[in-house]
Amino acid sequence: MNVMLGSLRFRLTCLGLWVTALSIFFVDILTELDIAVAVLYVLVIMIAMGTCSPRGLLRVAVMCGAMTVIGFFASHLDHPLGTALARCLISLTAIGIATWLALKNRRISDELKEQLSLLAHTHDVEAKLHRAQIELAHISRNTTMGELAASIAHEVNQPLAAITSSAEAANRWLDRPVPDLAEARCAIGRAASNARRASEVVSRIRDLTRKSDSHYDDLDLESVVTDSLALLDREIQSHQVQLLCKVDGLSPRVSGDRIQLQQVVINLIMNSLQAMLGRNDLPRELHVRIHAKESLAVVEVRDNGPGIDQTHLALLFDAFFTTKEDGMGIGLSICRSIIELHGGRIWADSQPDGGATFSFSLPASTTDTQRWT
Ligand code: ADP
Repeated sequence: MNVMLGSLRFRLTCLGLWVTALSIFFVDILTELDIAVAVLYVLVIMIAMGTCSPRGLLRVAVMCGAMTVIGFFASHLDHPLGTALARCLISLTAIGIATWLALKNRRISDELKEQLSLLAHTHDVEAKLHRAQIELAHISRNTTMGELAASIAHEVNQPLAAITSSAEAANRWLDRPVPDLAEARCAIGRAASNARRASEVVSRIRDLTRKSDSHYDDLDLESVVTDSLALLDREIQSHQVQLLCKVDGLSPRVSGDRIQLQQVVINLIMNSLQAMLGRNDLPRELHVRIHAKESLAVVEVRDNGPGIDQTHLALLFDAFFTTKEDGMGIGLSICRSIIELHGGRIWADSQPDGGATFSFSLPASTTDTQRWT
């Protein structure tokens, strides 16, 4: 429909163009007016400007020029010089100038159209970019949610396992021919404290993702480590691991969140226990050392498991990196988040004779730093 309308408009314009040109031509040759009638050919140029291509416009201009010259010779053949020639030249100049302006106008409008389409394209690209940004934000939110869910599942696993084994132990004490109520109460107490711990862990992970530091206290690092070891007492025993814990000098104090720092120690020790599982050829040993180095408080967890492949060292703390069949690869990534949130650093080394050492350092409280220097 649009194409048909466009072609009809083009034909009508061409018709108008010819009618105007021929009218001017006949007025020019048939009348004896003392004016440059041929200047009116400028009208023809202006009509052509709207529809013709630059080449078509040039053709129309040449045609107008030719009609001006023909008209001049047809009416003034007997005396071609004088004012008539001047009028003819004025008309030709007017046609030339009008053509030049029309062509220039056409070029500018073409350039404008091009820029407009470029602008529309840029706008389109911007819209696409905006859509891509929204999608990216959605993906990263999903990733964060995925990491959060994995972190909660990972961290709550250990207290849940402890609750189950305490509840089973309580059952066994009660099922005895003579129920041992004291032991059963003790086991139920352990289950309750692990349940409390699980809920604290969840709320600390939530704080971790919000980068909140509202639970920071002045802590004795040794007590953080011994509390964690107490929580893992049964696991250490069931894995038949010999624990050697030592503090070099005075125990450093740090500012931090007790539950979060315990999570770090528990994760490192659980990893060591799992790493030593396949080690049946020699006694399984777990060394935990606390010491101060310059203004830092350092905790080292060393095992005599298989150690770490050199190519894995740089990847260990990345979320979802795991070499275990049933691993989640989230424990060390949580450890790093917690330690970095406390302004510290965590790293791993592999021993030449096998075994791995995981260490973390935290800024020591000023009072203790002064005490050591
Ligand atoms: P996961 O335990 O679920 O695999 P982690 O983030 O806790 O996730 O550990 C990532 C990886 O780091 C483990 O899969 C293992 O390859 C390596 N790793 C961690 N601790 C030790 C260790 N004590 N000895 C050897 N490798 C370890």
